Amino acid sequence: MSDKVNILGINVDMAGIEEAADRIMEFFDEDRLHKVYTPNSEIIMSAYKNEEFRNLLNDADLLTADGIGVVYASKILGKPISERAAGFDIACDVLGRITRTPHSLFLFGGKPGVAETAKKKLEEKYIGIHIVGTHNGYFKPEDEQGIADEINRSGADLLFVCLGAPKQEEWIARNADKLRHVRVAMGIGGSLDVFAGTAERAPEFYCKHGLEWFYRLKKEPWRAKRMAALPKFAMTVMLKGRSFRQDQ
Ligand code: UDP
Repeated sequence: MSDKVNILGINVDMAGIEEAADRIMEFFDEDRLHKVYTPNSEIIMSAYKNEEFRNLLNDADLLTADGIGVVYASKILGKPISERAAGFDIACDVLGRITRTPHSLFLFGGKPGVAETAKKKLEEKYIGIHIVGTHNGYFKPEDEQGIADEINRSGADLLFVCLGAPKQEEWIARNADKLRHVRVAMGIGGSLDVFAGTAERAPEFYCKHGLEWFYRLKKEPWRAKRMAALPKFAMTVMLKGRSFRQDQ
């Protein structure tokens, strides 16, 4: 049995939060950049329909289930993932492990000022963390090389890319070869907003019971259209999911 579940053509690791953080710590010991993505059902659905994006996701070194929809899909397919492993939770676990170590972090993404505030808040929370640079997530294509250069100059070996999906995964894939010191690049969506305090995470009750989507819908009703994709995703997994081989 492989430790991945093939959900509509996307090979999702069956790793929970702690196991994902363990893997990331191992990635630091290997002399190359590792890509970590955490797709939710909406992202998996768009990768199902788009071969190029599907290949890009499958090229990740670690792909965890961010969202209860993906966890349910794994159950439907008979290879249940034990828990939702959201990018934010994995990031917090890794941050806890790299305080007072030589590892260093670059924060990339969010509106102007958000990454700087996140840096300040993280330095207060994780005493001894080395955050060596920040850059906001609103840039022109011609700025891209400059951003990669800035990340290289910082010497960071851990990079949080928070541009939302699929922008962040595409940015990492496009720039991976330019980043000289980064060993782990994680696409973790709106996490900088949560670290900075400009957005709230759902209370634990909602997260524990697989209801974070409901909390976000209450807070951000404009997400309704995006969320309507969830029942369609569940239906597609039920109808087509078993036609994907699980043994590769
Ligand atoms: N963002 C960005 N550049 C862009 C578009 C979005 O930096 O061109 C940031 C945005 O400010 C927000 C994050 O990306 O902080 C996306 O958050 P969202 O909650 O939509 O992403 P999700 O976690 O749902 O993927």
